[in-house]
Amino acid sequence: MSQDIGFIQREVLKEKPDPASLGFGKYFTDYMLVMDYDVENGWHAARITPYEPITLDPSAMVFHYGQAIFEGLKAYRTADGTIQMFRPEKNMKRLNDSCDRLCIPQIDEGFLLKAIKQLVLTEKDWVPNEAGTSLYVRPFIFSTEPYLGVRPAQQYKLMVILSPSGAYYGDQLSPVKIYVEEEYVRAVIGGVGHVKTAGNYAASLKAQEIAESKGYAQILWLDAKENKYVEEVGSMNIFFKINGEVVTPKLNGSILPGVTRDSVIQLLAYWGVPVREARISIEEVFEAYERGELEEVFGAGTAAVISPVGELNWNGRIITINDNQIGEISQRLYDEMTAIQLGKKEDPFNWTVKIAQVEV
Ligand SMILES: *Cc1c(COP(=O)(O)O)cnc(C)c1O
Repeated sequence: MSQDIGFIQREVLKEKPDPASLGFGKYFTDYMLVMDYDVENGWHAARITPYEPITLDPSAMVFHYGQAIFEGLKAYRTADGTIQMFRPEKNMKRLNDSCDRLCIPQIDEGFLLKAIKQLVLTEKDWVPNEAGTSLYVRPFIFSTEPYLGVRPAQQYKLMVILSPSGAYYGDQLSPVKIYVEEEYVRAVIGGVGHVKTAGNYAASLKAQEIAESKGYAQILWLDAKENKYVEEVGSMNIFFKINGEVVTPKLNGSILPGVTRDSVIQLLAYWGVPVREARISIEEVFEAYERGELEEVFGAGTAAVISPVGELNWNGRIITINDNQIGEISQRLYDEMTAIQLGKKEDPFNWTVKIAQVEV
C-alpha cells in the first residue's frame, strides 16, 4: 500500500456556519479523505480531496447486499489552541473488527489514523470553539464493485468526512425518557450487533419511530432471545447505579463495545466507585426501583458523552429515576470526561491525542 497521501486543492472554500446553529451532522467541511480498494492494489490512493458528491454504478454491491460500516469520533479544540482527539486508536481497531465481520478487507490502522490526523489538520479552522462543540469525524467503508452475485465485493471505498457539531445538550445535561422495547429487537448473538454496520441502524428505525410517537427520546433494547436482559440504548451503552454500585451489561456479542463505555468503566474503577459488567434483566432494574435502590440510570456514547435517564417505560410500567434529576455520578462522569477531552484536566490514562496547535 502506498503510504503517500495525495492532496487536491479546492478552488473556493465554503463559508463556515454560525456556531450557534450547528446541531449534528448538517454541515460538512471543505475536504474529505478517500481511499480505494481492489484486489490487485489492496487499499491504495489515499487522498484528501474537496468534499463533493461521488458517482457509483447502480449495481454497486452496497446498494444490494449492504456491506457498509462506519465509525464516529470527535476532535476538540482546547483553551490553549491544541486540536486533539479522544482514544482514536480504539475507533481504528473497531473499524477493522467491523471489516472482519462484514468480509471487508482490513485496513492499516496506523496509516488510517495518520491520514485522519492530516485531514483534521487541513481542516483545523473548522474545529469549533464554543462550549460543548466539536468536529465530528465520520470514517466509513462500503462496497463499490458493480456486480449482482452474492459474495464479498472485490472493490471498496473508504471515506472520512468531517462535520462541525454543536453541544448535544444546551448548557446543562438534561434527563431523557426511554422506552423499553418488547416487540422489536436490535441484534442477536451471532449476528452483527457488536459491530458498527449501517444495517443495524436501518433495522432499528421502526421501533425508534414508534417510541418517538409515544413521547420517548430513545429505546432501551432487550436481548433478542428471551426479551429479558438489558442490552443498550439507540447509539449508547447503558449504566445503572443500584445501591451504590454501577452495573452495565456485559459484552455478549450483540452489544456494541463503546469507547465511552470502556472509558466510564475505567474512570469509575480509578475513583474507587464499585463497577461491574454483568448480565442484568429489566426485571432486576424495576425490582431495584421498587426497593428504592435504583439511584441513577445513564447512557454513554461519543455523541452525548453521558446522557442521564429520567424515565423508563416498560410495558406501561413507568418509573421516574432520581426525581428526573441528573445523578451525582452521571454529572461527575460528564464533567470529568469532557474536561479530559477539552484538555482542562490532567489525562491520567493518556486518552487524548494531540494533532495540531492553532492560534487562539
Ligand atoms: C457507536 C455506538 C455506541 C457508542 O459507542 P462509542 O464508541 O462510545 O461512541 C453504542 N451503541 C451503538 C449501537 C453504537 O453504534
